[in-house]
Amino acid sequence: CGIVGYIGKRDAYPIVIQGLKRLEYRGYDSAGIALYDGANLKVCKTAGKVSDLEKQVAEEITTNGSIAIGHTRWATHGEPNQVNAHPHYSNSGDLVIIHNGIIENYDALKKELTARGYTFKSDTDTEVLINLIEDVKIKENVKLGKAVQIALNQVIGAYAIAVFDKNKPDEIVIARLGSPLAVGIGEDEFFIASDASPFIEYTKNAVYLEDEEMAIIRLGKAIKVRKIKDDSLVVPYVQELQL
Ligand code: GLU
Repeated sequence: CGIVGYIGKRDAYPIVIQGLKRLEYRGYDSAGIALYDGANLKVCKTAGKVSDLEKQVAEEITTNGSIAIGHTRWATHGEPNQVNAHPHYSNSGDLVIIHNGIIENYDALKKELTARGYTFKSDTDTEVLINLIEDVKIKENVKLGKAVQIALNQVIGAYAIAVFDKNKPDEIVIARLGSPLAVGIGEDEFFIASDASPFIEYTKNAVYLEDEEMAIIRLGKAIKVRKIKDDSLVVPYVQELQL
């Protein structure tokens, strides 16, 4: 399973789809991407191979964009099919998430959210997490990064996640506990991936998130890393990748 993301000025789709291919060795049963084309958020996903996803994208997504996140799924909750493939939307349709890992207390969280009026299309633990983030964001009236942090403090499990809000399309929020996540730092562009292989040809500078860290990746800004638990700022260590 794997995660790839891009935010910058380049055409994001080829970077993300190539990246997903490089992560195929990690194993997966489904694949999907979300692409922001400057006006709309497009999601395309499928059970099967990244090459199947490519065919589907060719039919369904006609616009280009410079922000995209992509995912290969190794199903833990819900069978490997199109509905359960990532990315998953929140109920409002504003937020999307990709996730590798397991939310162990998803059942209790799902019951609480259902009682608050949330509905679920998939059988995944991941769709519970994105709606928890949305619920916190609205209830507490906080920014996306803060909402992700508060939500993750209610979660038991393991994750590498990337979250995108179509109303704030210059930013991707990522977090990790138990699953790897690397950020490639370019000039006015960022790459996200489970390992550096998807972005090694674009930049040699990488920040590896540690467990229990989250980061806000915003165009035109330096990466901001924090501890999920106590909100303390972490000075990111930029590592030089060797070929
Ligand atoms: N638990 C999530 C799911 O089943 C993510 C699985 C993964 O790591 O790809 O959808």
